[in-house]
Amino acid sequence: MTFAERVRQLRPEGAYEVLAKAQALEAAGQEIIHLEIGQPDIQTFDNVSSAGIGAIEQGRTRYSPPAGAVELRDVIAEDAGRRRGLEIKPSEVVVAPGAKPMLFFPTMALVEPGDEVIYPDPGFPTYAAMISVAGGLPVPVRLREETGFAFDMEAFDDSLSDRTRLIILNSPGNPTGGVLPPHVLEHIARAAKRHDAWVLSDEIYMRLTFDGASAPSIASLPGMRERTVICDGFSKTYAMTGWRLGFGVMPERFAERLGLLLTHSIGCTATFTQYAGVEALLGPQEQVDEVVAEYQRRRDVLVEGLKGIPGVECQTPQGAFYAFPNITAFGHTSARLADYLLDEAGVAVLPGDAFGEGGEGYLRLCFANSMGNVEIALERIGEALGNLEIK
Ligand code: PMP
Repeated sequence: MTFAERVRQLRPEGAYEVLAKAQALEAAGQEIIHLEIGQPDIQTFDNVSSAGIGAIEQGRTRYSPPAGAVELRDVIAEDAGRRRGLEIKPSEVVVAPGAKPMLFFPTMALVEPGDEVIYPDPGFPTYAAMISVAGGLPVPVRLREETGFAFDMEAFDDSLSDRTRLIILNSPGNPTGGVLPPHVLEHIARAAKRHDAWVLSDEIYMRLTFDGASAPSIASLPGMRERTVICDGFSKTYAMTGWRLGFGVMPERFAERLGLLLTHSIGCTATFTQYAGVEALLGPQEQVDEVVAEYQRRRDVLVEGLKGIPGVECQTPQGAFYAFPNITAFGHTSARLADYLLDEAGVAVLPGDAFGEGGEGYLRLCFANSMGNVEIALERIGEALGNLEIK
């Protein structure tokens, strides 16, 4: 069978590969702690689930407009605007089945073959995949551990060219948990304007920040609204990964074009899911705050525990729900070490290189898991790594 090149070059996402390996071990009777998949361990909040079920019962099971139900676009515009200090019109909001389509479709809408697209390395694997599918040239730019996993600004400046069409940002970031500080955003904004480039700002972890900090949006900087697409969604904040609900915020003319792309691809997002989304935004938000506080407790235990293991160094993530420890002291590749931990410790983690070359030498551990599991995982990882030589 032969496929078009744009599909031939696709690779599986590392998380699903490790999950499959872990499940094979479980089928053989081994007990595994799963720190590989990036999704909340909690169920969707009851009020949100009830709203979804209610919507089905009320017959909200037919097509909705391609860019989303009017009620949902209204509440997203208000909520997303208030949280970023922006005035957002409903006509600037486009709803999609998950955040991923709001990465993929804007990239398809902007990138011509040969256009260069800058993205973080290590970064979410979908970025490189969608750039290639769109026919663009992926230009990975290293993140630096020493600066809390912001871009290496020298490398960023060197990566700009007159073919730079799009700059992808992700703050708080997967897999590093890093948050881009205002001075970095200002630098990137100046570069985007100078090169007349667009910015695709993946803000899916925006609500998951720690120690009272927040993750500013580049769209809030002067002159950036007209060249920025914000990608956000309900998966992480409201534990709705399987509902498939995300959205983008972009200039109105862009939203109209994207609506056409959605018309001819997905048609629309599941209608009852969208009504669950309305309830998620209008309902009580204390439950989100409680979950974030719980993630922070787990983060503290995990990061302290990792730092206590000889040979492991670990920055404290400022957002999302991932720890990204540096394991170079062991002298093994991250893939080898991840395999070792799965086989010897029964803990599934992701090798950093699943997120690009810049992830080599690191592991990603998701702490959206029970405190009990985090503690057992730490104990087992400590014991297994204790049997290895530190180079
Ligand atoms: N962006 C990032 C950085 C993510 O980590 C994820 C989920 N792993 C997504 C986008 C996709 O979110 P969704 O499931 O809503 O499509």
